[in-house]
Amino acid sequence: MEIKTFGVIGAGQMGNGIAQVAAMSGLNVIMNDIKQEFVERGLATITKILNRGVEKGKMSAGEKDTVLGKIKTSVALEEMASADFVVEAATENEPIKYQIFKDLDQICASHVILATNTSSIPIGRIAAQTGRPENVIGMHFMNPVPVMKLVEVIRGIATTDETFNTTWDLALKFNKTPAEANDYPGFIANRILMPMINEAIYCLYHSVGTRENIDTVMKLGMNHPMGPLALADLIGLDTCLAIMEMLYGGFGDSKYRPCPLLRKYVEAGWFGRKTGRGFYEYK
Ligand code: NAD
Repeated sequence: MEIKTFGVIGAGQMGNGIAQVAAMSGLNVIMNDIKQEFVERGLATITKILNRGVEKGKMSAGEKDTVLGKIKTSVALEEMASADFVVEAATENEPIKYQIFKDLDQICASHVILATNTSSIPIGRIAAQTGRPENVIGMHFMNPVPVMKLVEVIRGIATTDETFNTTWDLALKFNKTPAEANDYPGFIANRILMPMINEAIYCLYHSVGTRENIDTVMKLGMNHPMGPLALADLIGLDTCLAIMEMLYGGFGDSKYRPCPLLRKYVEAGWFGRKTGRGFYEYK
């Protein structure tokens, strides 16, 4: 079935980025969150990024208006009834995601693919909340979505080839490069990235180096575009902790234990850029 209307659940940093690339590919988008102020903030972020694109001559003002005109905001999940494909990008929290998938399963037609942008929650566990596990898949975008080329496409144990191929083709339509992964904790991207970030936090915790020196070593020594602590602040320390907990629980291996300093920051509400304070301070 042709996908014309694309639903996004969650208008946070990932959700609004996904909504933007979907609208830029020509799809009609419904961007949902739990509060009006959250969808408005998501739309304001998209507008700001598109305005920057116009200033830099990457798109015309008319094209910007066309993209924005394709995005409808919503605080009622029932409106996903008109979506042909839905991606969930809500907070990385199991009960929240499970409820969303239970509800979407009731709201959306049975052939509609329900994808999740989860960083680490098993696709099979999310799929089991629905009566259509064959139509549930991981569609894992990278941050910032409009810039990063990769989409990890993750097969759950019950995901059909048809669901996989439709999702893969959609990633291509969004001008992204998909990579296939299977359903094990952290998939590919976070199985490798997050232990590295966690180890950088351990370096800070053990006073091996300052935040600046840790990030400088990885930027200049390993040619990473960002240091791991700055990257953790960009991802969100709450999300980093949730992923580490999932790796630790999923493998039962102490090498994945989250650094106590990461936990302490999250408990203090220091989530990184989105709250203005993480390993660095943001105005
Ligand atoms: P975020 O905190 O910026 O946004 C999450 C949004 O979900 C918030 O606006 C929140 O209000 C909304 N939300 C919560 N419950 C909801 C519900 N029941 N219905 C609708 N919306 C709801 O988080 P984020 O960084 O955008 O992460 C979202 C998802 O993307 C998570 O699963 C995360 O693991 C994943 N992810 C994050 C990154 C990253 O770098 N931050 C990268 C890849 C994937």
